[in-house]
Amino acid sequence: MTSNAVFSHASGHEQVIFCHDERSGLRAIVAIHSTALGPALGGVRMHPYRTESDALNDVLSLSRGMSYKSALAGVGLGGGKAVIVGDPASDKTDELLHSFGRRVDSLGGTYITAPDAGTSVRDMDVISQHCKYVVGLSAACGGFGDPSPHTALGVFRGMLASEVYLRGTASLRGRLVGVEGAGKVGYHLVRYLLEEGARVAVTDVNDAALARVRSLGDVRTVPSINELLSLPLDVYAPCALGGSLTEERATIIPARIVCGAANNQLTDPTVAMSLHRRGILYAPDYLVNAGGLIHVAAEFRGFDAERAWDSITSISGTLGEVYAIADREGVSPAEAADRLAVRRIAAGAD
Ligand code: NAD
Repeated sequence: MTSNAVFSHASGHEQVIFCHDERSGLRAIVAIHSTALGPALGGVRMHPYRTESDALNDVLSLSRGMSYKSALAGVGLGGGKAVIVGDPASDKTDELLHSFGRRVDSLGGTYITAPDAGTSVRDMDVISQHCKYVVGLSAACGGFGDPSPHTALGVFRGMLASEVYLRGTASLRGRLVGVEGAGKVGYHLVRYLLEEGARVAVTDVNDAALARVRSLGDVRTVPSINELLSLPLDVYAPCALGGSLTEERATIIPARIVCGAANNQLTDPTVAMSLHRRGILYAPDYLVNAGGLIHVAAEFRGFDAERAWDSITSISGTLGEVYAIADREGVSPAEAADRLAVRRIAAGAD
């Protein structure tokens, strides 16, 4: 196996490691953005990147995002990420995962890996056969299993904190919430909303996902996002893929609150300002979807699962702090979240 490490001054990363193993076919990059607040935790994404430069750009931006996310989640961790170049459906083998695990293990805990797009809990179990620094394991291997219920709870708490900011009460009773994407997170989010007494409308491209969510209770399902956004929503929750918040969509969202689980919701940072100008409160995605991170961080620390559930409540307090910074400094909540994360990382580096 060959690898080399470079210090990336331009992007602010502490370390970027290129891994290549002829025998297993492993081609991977590990990016450690910051360890100022603790070991750099972040998932490993497997994707058939067209070029090495595409893979590098992705891992640099994702690992920086993890630093910000960890800083706001207050989990005492830094930010890192890894990418494996290849098609998860056809190129993934146990030998390749073992090779990746050995490489991560050799970093001595500076970087801790976890599941991400293209990798699964089962893959983490395989990686753990050669690596101590892996979380997101199955219960059979000592992990906490699927983090999605924790992620959904964080989003739900983010909605309540947004209600407090706008209306002074932590209640969604009777409010109409539109959920885009009824997958692992969306399903549990709908469950929490129904328990709260909210009215719920859902769209998904997958009919089976819609049928599953309808089985939870009185849920209205609609065939498209345009139809969802034509309803008099109080809250819009993007829980499908990234890129839901475009400039065009910012002009038609009927809700006063946008709060959902999807990563990278804003197609451009300017959309955050457009929402802000329209009086729409945008709960920064990487803050409110940190329940999954809190879940794997608790697994890493060896806490019990109950303690992870309790820690999710911190998301509400931090979101309130972000809204206060946005007011004080005259910026959008998205910008305020970035500022708070940068300040916390800088304080940790001192
Ligand atoms: P998932 O794949 O289980 O669910 C996504 C759902 O979105 C699927 O049901 C899919 O059919 C639907 N979908 C896809 N394209 C759509 C479209 N154009 N319109 C409507 N629905 C569409 O994924 P998940 O684990 O529920 O994650 C949802 C989002 O939250 C993702 O962006 C993910 O990165 C993010 N996230 C998830 C977690 C977690 O714990 N699972 C943690 C943090 C962030």
